[in-house]
Amino acid sequence: MGTDDCIFCKMAAGQVPVAKVYEDDTVLAFLDIGPISDGHTLVIPRQHFERIDDCPPKLLGEVASRLGKIAGAVVAAMKSDGYNVLCNNGQAAGQLVKHLHFHIIPRNAGDGVFKRWPAYKYPQGKPEAIAEAIRKNL
Ligand code: AMP
Ligand code: ZN
Repeated sequence: MGTDDCIFCKMAAGQVPVAKVYEDDTVLAFLDIGPISDGHTLVIPRQHFERIDDCPPKLLGEVASRLGKIAGAVVAAMKSDGYNVLCNNGQAAGQLVKHLHFHIIPRNAGDGVFKRWPAYKYPQGKPEAIAEAIRKNL
């Protein structure tokens, strides 16, 4: 997908209306149109990159540096107990819009938003092998 047919690029360019939460020269934050809790907010860089791993580190840092301020305002306004920051990267991870974005999802105790966290245990030796494989790709 190019930037011409990217809905979030159109939002950043002011061509599509948004319920704006915050904006500056680098990022735009707006309410998710399909919230999983009230105040569910998306934070995007204005510039189009698809994923965390293809976004230049400087820009990624600039986007990340805004998350605390925006999340603090979201949870204060929603009077929520906490929040999740979520970034889906790739279709397999649930990314539907191919423009990098961070979800800020207000949470309250017992809200059941993420009911299942499918944790399991590694067999002996596997964590070391996986960590080595990751290090080799850095
Ligand atoms: P993801 O699955 O991480 O790609 O999430 C994309 C998010 O974008 C979903 O939660 C959608 O509800 C949201 N979304 C898609 N189109 C719009 C839109 N026009 N305005 C606001 N949020 C949108
Ligand atoms: Zn885009």
